[in-house]
Amino acid sequence: MTRPEFYDEGALVGVLTTQPLDRLLDYKAPEGGCMLGAFVEVPLGPRKVLGIVWGPGRGDWDIAKVRSVIRVLDAAPMREEMRTFLLRAAEYTLTPMPAMLRLATRAPGLGDPPSMRKIYRRGEGEPDRATDARRRVMETLAEYGDLSFTLKELSEMAGVTSSVVKGLVKQGVVSEEDAPRDVPFRRLDPSLPGKELTDDQAAGAAMLAEAVRSETYGTTLLRGVTGSGKTEVYLEAVAACLAQGRQALVLLPEIALTAEFLKRVEARFGARPAEWHSGATMTERRRIWRMVGQGGAQLVIGARSALFLPYQNLGLIVVDEEHDTSYKQEDGVLYNARDMAVLRASICGAHVVLASATPSLESWANAEAGKYKRLELTSRFGPAVMPVMGTIDMRAAALPADRWVSPDLQKAVQARIDAGEQAMLFINRRGYAPITLCRACGHQIACDQCDARMVEHRFLKRLMCHQCGETKPMPTTCPSCEAEDRLAPVGPGVERLGEEAALLWPDARIATLSSDMYGSARALKAEIENIAQGGTDIVIGTQLVAKGHNFPNLTLVGVIDADLGLQGSDLRAAERTFQLMRQVAGRAGRADKPGTALLQTYQPEHPVIRAILAGDEEGFWRAEAAQREAAGVPPYGRMAGIILSGPDVAAVFDIANKLARADGPLRQVGAQVYGPAPAPIARVRGRHRVRMLIKADKGVALQGALRKWVKQVQIKGDIRLAIDIDPQSF
Ligand code: ADP
Ligand code: ZN
Repeated sequence: MTRPEFYDEGALVGVLTTQPLDRLLDYKAPEGGCMLGAFVEVPLGPRKVLGIVWGPGRGDWDIAKVRSVIRVLDAAPMREEMRTFLLRAAEYTLTPMPAMLRLATRAPGLGDPPSMRKIYRRGEGEPDRATDARRRVMETLAEYGDLSFTLKELSEMAGVTSSVVKGLVKQGVVSEEDAPRDVPFRRLDPSLPGKELTDDQAAGAAMLAEAVRSETYGTTLLRGVTGSGKTEVYLEAVAACLAQGRQALVLLPEIALTAEFLKRVEARFGARPAEWHSGATMTERRRIWRMVGQGGAQLVIGARSALFLPYQNLGLIVVDEEHDTSYKQEDGVLYNARDMAVLRASICGAHVVLASATPSLESWANAEAGKYKRLELTSRFGPAVMPVMGTIDMRAAALPADRWVSPDLQKAVQARIDAGEQAMLFINRRGYAPITLCRACGHQIACDQCDARMVEHRFLKRLMCHQCGETKPMPTTCPSCEAEDRLAPVGPGVERLGEEAALLWPDARIATLSSDMYGSARALKAEIENIAQGGTDIVIGTQLVAKGHNFPNLTLVGVIDADLGLQGSDLRAAERTFQLMRQVAGRAGRADKPGTALLQTYQPEHPVIRAILAGDEEGFWRAEAAQREAAGVPPYGRMAGIILSGPDVAAVFDIANKLARADGPLRQVGAQVYGPAPAPIARVRGRHRVRMLIKADKGVALQGALRKWVKQVQIKGDIRLAIDIDPQSF
C-alpha cells in the first residue's frame, strides 16, 4: 500500500523548480521513492537544479523519456501549509511560483552532505605574495570580522577562484576547518519570570496569551507610545506560545535588530533566539533554516524574509513597528511582510501581533472595521511622560544659506548639554549634501544611469547615487563646463549637519550616525552602545537612530527639516511624516527625565505639522481616512502599480500604450487605468521606467483581472513588467 503523500520509485512526479518556467516539470521518483514536498535535485538540460516535489506528474509524456530525480536532499519535506502559503502569496502578489520558491529556499548549501562541508575564516599573518586576488580575499575576511564562510561563498564574495583561497590556506593566513554540525539552539525557558507588569500591561499580556492559546488565527493591533512596554507585553505572548511547544517569530525592521533588543529577549528566556538578518553568514542561515524545520529553534527574531523559513508549528508572529516601510520588499518579489505575516498565520492557525506607536492607516482601518482586535497601552512605563512638542518657525530664523540649526534650537541643545543630558538632531538625508552644483554653469552632477542626482559623501570622499548605489570620485572640475573648483555642495545631509554642530558646540562630544559611516554593523553597534552609556552629548542621525534604540539620557530631539517628507504629491506623504515625526520625537525622554521635541518648519500651520504637535492621533487618522476614502485609494480602494522598464524609452512607452488601450479585462471589473507616465524615478540603472496605476473598488478581485490584462500584450526583448500590488506610493 502506498501512502497518499509518497511516490514510489519510478512514479511520475511534478517538480517545481526555482528556474523561471511557468509550469511543473515531470520526473520519475528516484530509487527509494520520495515524499510529497521533498527537496530534490533534478536534471534540467545539462544542469542540476533544486526543486520541490509538488504533486503527481502530468503523465502526457512517453514515460521512457522522462528523466529521474537525481537525489532527494537531506532536508525535511516542505509542509503542505508552506506550499499553500507560497501559492497564496504568489497569487496575491502576482509572482511566478519559481520566484516565490526562491524566497523559501534561501538556505544555501541545502544540497551539500554535512560531512563534506569545510568552513574558512581568517588565519594568522599576512599573505607572502599579496596579489590583487589575494588581497581581495583578505579584505573580505577583514570586513566580516571573525565570521566563517564556505569555499564557494568566500571565493564568490572576493571575486576570486577557489584556488586562490586554497593557496592562502596553505600559507596559513586563511584557516580551513570542518563545518560544525547543525546544532539546535539552546532551549528557551518561557517559565522564567518576566518583568513585573503594570495593570495595563498585565491585562494586555493576558489577552494576547489567551489569543495564542486558542490556537486559532487572529490579529491584534498593539498600539502604545514608545516606551509604554509593548515589547514587554508581546514577549509574554511569546512566552505563552513557547510554553505550548509552538514556535514564535518576531519580525523587526532590519535596523531595529539590535544587540540591546536581543539581550532583552535573552534575559527574558535565558538563552539567545535565532537571529535571521541580512548580515547573517551563510553558515548561520543554514543552521537556522534547518533548525527551524526540525524544531531546534523555538524563537526566530528576524527581518522580513524570516517569514519564509520552514516552521514546523508556528503559533505566533509579532510584527514590531508594523507601519515601517522597510517591510515592503521593493526588489524582485514585491511583498509586504506585514500582510504576508497575516496570510501565513491565517493558514497555520497562528496569532499575529502588529505592534506600533503609530500604526499604518491600513492596520488602523482593519481594527476600526473589527477585523483586528485592538489593544492599547496608553501611558509610558513608570513616571515617564510623552515629550513636549513644539515648532520653530524657520521663516523667522532667517539663517544664512549654509546653516540649518536655528538659534532657538541651538539654545535648547545647549541647555541640555549644560544639564548633563543628551540631545539629538535628526535629518532624514544620508551623505554630506544632496546636490553638487557648478557655480559657473549651474550644472548639477547626476548619475549616468539614473534620473537622480549624485549625493556627495564626504566621509567616503565620493559621490553616490542613492538609486543604484553607483559611486564615483568627487571631481574638482565641472563635468559640464570644465570650470575649476566651482563645484559647491547645496543643502544639508547628515554629515554636513555634523560639521555645523562641531562649529556650534566645539567642546561637545558629537556622534554622527549614518549607515555608510561605519565600516561594519559591529562598529555601528558599538557606537550606539557608547551613546546609550552617555559617552556622547549630541547625536546626529538619519532614520537609523529613529528606530528601536533606547537612549535613557536623551531628552531633546531637534528635527532639522520637518517639511522634508511633505513635499511631492504622494498620497501617503502625510501618514509617513506623521509616523516618522512621532517616532523620532518618541526618542526624547525616558525613565524619569521628561523630553522635548522641536520641529523646524517653514509651514508651522500645515495640518500635518499641527496634528503632530497636537498628538491627536485618532483625529489625524480620521482625517486621513476620510481623505483616502473620498479618493477611493487604499485602504478604502484597491490599487496596483505597473512598472514597465527597458533601455529604450520609446519601446517601453509603446508597450505601455498598447496595454493601456487593451484595458477590457480591467473595465469588466470596474477598474481604471491611470497613465502611462514616466515613473517617479524615470530611469534607474540605465532602464527607463514607465508607470501605470490601476484603481478599483475595495471588493474587486483585482489580481484575476490584472492577470488577464497583462497576458494580452506580448512583452518582448529587453522590456520587463513588474506588478506592485498595494504600492507604497501613489
Ligand atoms: P515599547 O516597546 O512600547 O517602546 P518597551 O517594552 O521597550 O516599550 O519598554 C520601554 C522601557 O521600559 C524598557 O526599557 C522596558 O524594559 C521598560 N519597562 C516597560 N515595562 C516595564 C515593566 N513593567 N517593568 C520594568 N520595566 C519596564
Ligand atoms: Zn544611479
